[in-house]
Amino acid sequence: MSNNNINLIIRGGKVVSPSSTIEADVAISDEKIVAVVSPGVLPKAEREIDAAGHYVLPGAIDSHVHFREPGYAYKEDWGTGTAAAACGGTTSVFEMPNTNPPTGTLEALKLKQDCAAAQAYVDYGIYGLLDEDNIDVLEDLIGAGVSGFKCFMGNTFGDLPAPSDGAMLEGFEILARHGYRCTVHAENPSIMARRQERMVQAGRTDPLAHLAARPEVCAVEAVGRAVAFAEWTGARLHIAHKSSKDALYILKDAKARGVDVTVETCPHYLLMSTDDMTTLGGALRVNPPVREPGHAEALWEALHEGTIDMIATDHAPHQPDEKSSKNIWECDCGFPGVETQMPIMLTQVNAGRMTLNQYVKWSAHAPAHAWGCYPNKGVIQAGSDADIVVVSLDKGYIIDRENLHSKSKMTVWHGFETTATVAWTLVRGRTVVENSVLIGESGWGKKIEQKMPEPAPQNIEKSMDAIVKAPRF
Ligand SMILES: [Zn+2]
Repeated sequence: MSNNNINLIIRGGKVVSPSSTIEADVAISDEKIVAVVSPGVLPKAEREIDAAGHYVLPGAIDSHVHFREPGYAYKEDWGTGTAAAACGGTTSVFEMPNTNPPTGTLEALKLKQDCAAAQAYVDYGIYGLLDEDNIDVLEDLIGAGVSGFKCFMGNTFGDLPAPSDGAMLEGFEILARHGYRCTVHAENPSIMARRQERMVQAGRTDPLAHLAARPEVCAVEAVGRAVAFAEWTGARLHIAHKSSKDALYILKDAKARGVDVTVETCPHYLLMSTDDMTTLGGALRVNPPVREPGHAEALWEALHEGTIDMIATDHAPHQPDEKSSKNIWECDCGFPGVETQMPIMLTQVNAGRMTLNQYVKWSAHAPAHAWGCYPNKGVIQAGSDADIVVVSLDKGYIIDRENLHSKSKMTVWHGFETTATVAWTLVRGRTVVENSVLIGESGWGKKIEQKMPEPAPQNIEKSMDAIVKAPRF
C-alpha cells in the first residue's frame, strides 16, 4: 500500500467494534480513516501514535449535553464544554435547547450556531426546542440545521413550560413528515408541581423530598404518552435519561411493535442510588432523580437486552453556590458528566458488568444510528470520519473536580477511582487530546452531517395539516 496520502497511523492497538476486538493498525488521511489492516503492513507515516497495550475505540457520541451558551456562559460555554468532551473521549455531542434564549426560534438557533462554530473542539448537533408556541417554526428550524428536537414534557433547569398535548401531537406530526427524531424529558409536570408545592408548604426541604416530588409514575405516564404520540404520527422518538425500571415494559412493547423509539440512560442512574443522595445532597439533585437501590440493576438488564440503547451523560453544569443550599428546592438540577463518562464506564468494563464491545455499541454505534450519522461516525472502518479514542484499561486515576475542563467543579464523581484512562482523542483526524492533555484548537469541531432514514408518517389524513385544509361541507 502506498502511503502517499496517509498522514497518521495509530499502530499496535486493539481496535474495538460491537462485534470484534482485533489487533490492527489504523491509517488516517486528513479527516478520514482510509485503512484498518493487520499490524505491520503499513509503511511508516509522517506521524504515528504508538497504541501498544491500548484499545482503539470509536469516539463516544453523547446524545445529551447542556453547554449553557447562550445565556448561562458562567456555568459553561461551548469551548469548555467541548474541551471536557474531548478529554473524556467524546467526539460528538448533541446539545440541548434550554439556554437563554431557548433554541426555539431561528434567531436563537443562529446565536447558538455561532457560539458552537467559534469554540467547539468536537463535532456537534444542536437540538431545536419543541414547545407550545413554536409549532409553526419547526420546519424553519429544520431548514436552518437543527439535528433533532427536544420536548420538555417535565420541567427542568430553564423552567421551560411543557407544551400542551395538542401542541406536542401537532409538533410530532410535522417532525414525522421530515423523519426527524424528538427527544423527550418524560416526566408528568402536573403531578410533580402539585407534590412539590405540598411538600414546600409542609416544610420539607431535605434531599429526598426531590425524589418524593417525582415518583416513577411521572415517568410511566409521560413515556406512555410520548410513545402513543410517536406511534400515531410516525415521529421518531428518543427517551432521555431513563432513570427507573417502571416504564421499561412500555418501551420494550413499543419496540416489539416496531415503533422507532431509542432510549438512553446515564452513568449516575447505573451506578448511584438514593443512598448517595443522602450523602451528596444538592450536588446530586438531578432530573429525573436517582432512585432507590434496585433500579440500577434493572437498567443494566435493559441495556443488555436492548430496551435501553445507549449511554448519554446529561452533562448539566452549574456553579458550586447553585448546588450547595441546605434547602433542596434551591439547588439547581444536574451536574457535569461528559468528561467522566468514558473512564467511569470503562471501569465497569473492567469490573465485568459489560464487555468492551458492548460499551462501544452503547456509547458510539447506537447513537450514530439513532441520529443518522452512521457510518460516518460510530465505527472505525475505511471511509469513516477519524473520530477515534485510544484508551488504557490498566491505568486508572482518581477523579478530581479541580482537574475537570468544565467550568463546573460540582461533579458527584469527585474521588471516584477509575481503572481506565483516555489517552488520545482524535476528531476527524486531528489530535485533540494527546497523552491525556488537551492540545486541540477550539473551532475545529463542526456540525455533524446527518442522514435520517426515510420519513414514515402515519395517520396523515387525520393530522392538523390535513384537517384544516379539508373541504367544507
Ligand atoms: Zn438534560
